[in-house]
Amino acid sequence: MSMNLFVPSFATDQDEEVERNMEPQTLPAGGAWRFKGNNAAKEAASVSMKGTLTRLFDNCSHDLNKTILPLGHGDPTIYPCFQTSVEAEDAVVESLRSGGAANSYAPGIGILPARRAVATYLNRDLPNKIKSDDIFLTVGCCQGIETMIHALSGPKANILLPSLVYPLYHSHAIHSLVEIRKYDLLPEQDWEIDLQCIEAIADENTIAIAITNPHNPCGNVYTHDHLKKVAETARNLGIMVISDEVYNKTIYGENPFVPMGIFSSIVPVVTLDSISKGWLVPGWRIGWIAMNDPYNVLKTTGVVESIKEHLDISPDPSTILQFALPNILENTRKDFFEKNNSVLSQNVDLTFNALKDIPCLVCPKKPESCTYLVAKLDLSLLEDITSDVDFCMKLAREENLVLLPGEVLGLKNWVRFSIGVERSMIEEAFVRLKGFFARHIKSQPT
Ligand SMILES: *Cc1c(COP(=O)(O)O)cnc(C)c1O
Repeated sequence: MSMNLFVPSFATDQDEEVERNMEPQTLPAGGAWRFKGNNAAKEAASVSMKGTLTRLFDNCSHDLNKTILPLGHGDPTIYPCFQTSVEAEDAVVESLRSGGAANSYAPGIGILPARRAVATYLNRDLPNKIKSDDIFLTVGCCQGIETMIHALSGPKANILLPSLVYPLYHSHAIHSLVEIRKYDLLPEQDWEIDLQCIEAIADENTIAIAITNPHNPCGNVYTHDHLKKVAETARNLGIMVISDEVYNKTIYGENPFVPMGIFSSIVPVVTLDSISKGWLVPGWRIGWIAMNDPYNVLKTTGVVESIKEHLDISPDPSTILQFALPNILENTRKDFFEKNNSVLSQNVDLTFNALKDIPCLVCPKKPESCTYLVAKLDLSLLEDITSDVDFCMKLAREENLVLLPGEVLGLKNWVRFSIGVERSMIEEAFVRLKGFFARHIKSQPT
C-alpha cells in the first residue's frame, strides 16, 4: 500500500523527534501576538469524513492479531490492481520533456489545446455541440464544485442538493453562505430523484439543482427518461442543472451512462468532470467545467463571467497536466476502462452475494457504477447495537474492520463499503463480519 494511505495502521511516525520549546515565547512589549486563526471554515470543514475515519482507526485494537482492513476509504489507486493507463503516464512524461513548453503559467481558464481537446471529447456524445470556449479547466472536479457554488452565490440564494451528496458541496455551500435544501433519493426506485420533493422545496431564490450521475456512493446510473424529467422540472422552476459526472467512465452495470448535457436545449446544464476517477489518478488534480448552453443563458445571466473571475483568482491545474490532457483523453484505450470495470464488477458481485449471509445489512440495489456499495443496517436483528456509528465503532474494535457509517454522508443507519480494493480484502472482511454478526445477533424469544 502506498505511503499516502490515510491509515494509521499502528505505524509510528516517521518524522525524527524535533525538540520544541514548550515555554511561551515572551514578546518585547510583553504583549500578545496580534493574529489568530479565522474560524470561517470551521463549520464547513466539520462535515468532512476524515474525522470519523480517524476515530474508527483509533478504535482498532493492537492486540487482536488481525490486520486493519480499511474498507471505509475511497481511493482505489493505492492498490496494485487499480493503476492508471500507460498512455496517460506517457502523456505526462512527454509533457514534462516538451522542452520547457509546459513550464509557464497558464491562463486562469486553462490553455486552449486542452480546452479544445475536452470539447472534442465531450462532443462525441452531445447533439448540441460545445466549443473550447465553453470549457474551463479546474483543479479536479473539486474546484469545479467550489467555482460553481461561488459563482452562483448571492444574498438569500439556495441550492438543491441530494440527501446523499459528495461532502464538498455541503462545505462550499456553507462557506459561501448558500442555503442548502436537500432533496430525497428513492432507494426502492433505483435511487431516482424524488421530483415532487424538488418542486416542493424550490422557490424564487433557488439557483440550481446539483445532481450526481453516476451517483457516488449509491452506485446507480440514471436513465435517459429520468434525466429528461429532471431537465423539465428544472426548466419549470427556472433553475440550472449542475451535473457531477466524475464517475462516468466507471460503469459496469446494465444502464448506460447518459450525459446531462444532451438535454441542454431544455435547460442550461453545467457539467463537472475530471480524470481523477476514470483514469485512477486523483492525485493529478485536473478536471473541467463544461457549459452546455445553446441559448447562451449562462452568458447573458453573467454566470460565465463570474466563473472566469473566480478562476482568475484561484490556483490553476499544473501546466504539465494541462499540456498532457489532450493525449490522455485521446490515447487511452477502451480496454483500460473495461479492465478496471471488470475488476469492480467482480468485487461488487462478491460483496452483494456475501451480504446475503449478513441479514442485518441489506443492499436495495446492486451498484452499477462507482467504487462503493451502501447497505441499510437492520438494527432490529442486533442485540446491543444502537446505530450505524455504534456498529462501525464496535466492528473496528472487535474485528479491525473499518467501514464508513452512513451518518457521515447523511444516510443514518446505513453502512458504506469500499469495493475499489483487493478482492482478498473483501473476502476477509466478510469472514470477520460473519463472526461479528454471530456475536451480536438478537437471541430469538423462545
Ligand atoms: C471524487 C469526487 C469528486 C472530486 O473529484 P476530484 O477530481 O478528485 O476533485 C467530486 N464529486 C464526486 C461525486 C466525487 O466522487
